Amino acid sequence: MLGQLRKAGSARLLNSFLHRGCAVCDRPTPKSFCFDCQRQLQDQIRNRPQISASSEPLFVESLGAYDGVLKRAILSLKYENRPEVAQFLGAVLGRQWIEAARSLPAKPLYALPIPLHSERQRQRGYNQAALLARSFCRVSGLTLLENGLVRSQATVPQHQLGIEARQKNLEGAFAIGKSLQRRQAKAGSLGVVLVDDIYTTGVTIQSAEKVLKRSGISVLGTVVVARA
Ligand SMILES: [Zn+2]
Repeated sequence: MLGQLRKAGSARLLNSFLHRGCAVCDRPTPKSFCFDCQRQLQDQIRNRPQISASSEPLFVESLGAYDGVLKRAILSLKYENRPEVAQFLGAVLGRQWIEAARSLPAKPLYALPIPLHSERQRQRGYNQAALLARSFCRVSGLTLLENGLVRSQATVPQHQLGIEARQKNLEGAFAIGKSLQRRQAKAGSLGVVLVDDIYTTGVTIQSAEKVLKRSGISVLGTVVVARA
């Protein structure tokens, strides 16, 4: 079963590399993005509005607003089977994090992607947050714990719900994975950074933070591609 799933996943990955169109506009290009879209993406990231960190319960670093080319890139990553888009976005996040994290009093050791609902992941063939985290870690030097957080129960997709229902839906949705439990038991206290594709209401991140806090793990920050 697992072998079959793996095979399906790599076939999907292979297909996506054979598909040589721009992930945003579909024009032929050997890269993830054509020249125009790449430039627009870089402009959007460069000109992103600075959001004051003091209004946040958590330090959040993003590449910009969920809008324009950045939004289209995320949509292709999530819904058009373009996992390689995560490589570029994760690397930019990694470089940005190195700068932003200088102001943090403590340094996180591990990066934890927000886990997908297992049914979702099976359909998609990958968890986009995990792919982003891989690329993010390669650049930032943080250690990736891909299953540091796990889903403890099936939840309804968040975007179908209002804020209150979102909170309720996510209560108890996350649990700490074995890899993180082991490290936590050894170290006594740990600092982590969470990685996700979009930050909407912050409810997902907060509920993950709650679970981690309960085990004495500090969430020192969050990195997301875009903020809605
Ligand atoms: Zn393009």
